[in-house]
Amino acid sequence: MNVNERLEAIKNEAQEQITLIKSMHELNDAKAKFLGKKGLFQDVMKLMKDLPNEERPKFGKLTNEAKQVIQSYLDEQRKAIEDAVIKEQLEKETIDVTLPGKAFNMGQTHILTQVTEEIEDLFIGMGYEIMEGPEVEIDEYNFEKLNLPKDHPARDMQDTFYITEDTLLRTHTSPVQVRTMLDKGGKEPIKILCPGKVYRRDDDDATHSHQFMQIEGLVVDEQVSMADLKGTLLAIANKMFGEGRNIRLRPSYFPFTEPSVEVDISCHNCNGKGCNICKGTGWIEVLGAGLVNNNVLEASGYDSTKYQGFAFGIGVERIAMLKYGINDIRQFYTNDIRFIDQFKK
Ligand SMILES: [Zn+2]
Repeated sequence: MNVNERLEAIKNEAQEQITLIKSMHELNDAKAKFLGKKGLFQDVMKLMKDLPNEERPKFGKLTNEAKQVIQSYLDEQRKAIEDAVIKEQLEKETIDVTLPGKAFNMGQTHILTQVTEEIEDLFIGMGYEIMEGPEVEIDEYNFEKLNLPKDHPARDMQDTFYITEDTLLRTHTSPVQVRTMLDKGGKEPIKILCPGKVYRRDDDDATHSHQFMQIEGLVVDEQVSMADLKGTLLAIANKMFGEGRNIRLRPSYFPFTEPSVEVDISCHNCNGKGCNICKGTGWIEVLGAGLVNNNVLEASGYDSTKYQGFAFGIGVERIAMLKYGINDIRQFYTNDIRFIDQFKK
């Protein structure tokens, strides 16, 4: 066998074997076998010794060409193996988008938060600012500056959790209004909505809770009248109980407002005809309101000859109970998931 034949034989053998290789490991073995120091070309080199000197360069060239051809077989096969691995991976990891997803529990806001946010949205739209304040208050802000001095009989209307003689759990969100009026220094108009938890010493039953939520609104400006209050109350009624509600104002008494009114809304269930929700009257009592008592304005630095104001207070639980037919206030606080889940948005 001459050199040419030998080289051809090696190339053919290399092509045959290398194209069958499936792994990198085998590929490395093949490289050692054909191109390694102890590889098949060693035999070829031995043949070189017998060649005449002038033929040796030509022989060297042929040998290098053969090596390059084999290297190209190895390179091609390496690429083929890599492609196969990627293809296999892709096939294995294909995502079936028609499979159902993993279900997971999503939390939600509590129904009282939902009702609160609904009312907040309405008032933000009317240019009100949402204000919050501490739940542990001083007597001065919770009572005295709201026209309820220490021995005032109306304090009995709000049985109070006292912490010390002068600190207490706020019985309404009105102290936030006092704080705001003091902050404004009796100078600027005010338009605020104050939502939050309040506390009263009550025996818990289906309609009473020692802790509940209130939203109070306060507007103070130079031209504020009962007509403005009435328009605002009507907006609340329509927002909370649907368009077409009517309101009825009945004279009442609160120490911090004068005149004061109880606000009834025409029954959303029977549309005023009379049903068990409105106890046959066609009206439901939902909130209290009034024009801010001059003493309250003066106590927080507002000149009552220049400024007037109106205020209203909504019980959030009461609204939610009416709206969703909830018959026990305690259900809001017992954290029974079956109750809470009913109000998923
Ligand atoms: Zn009714």
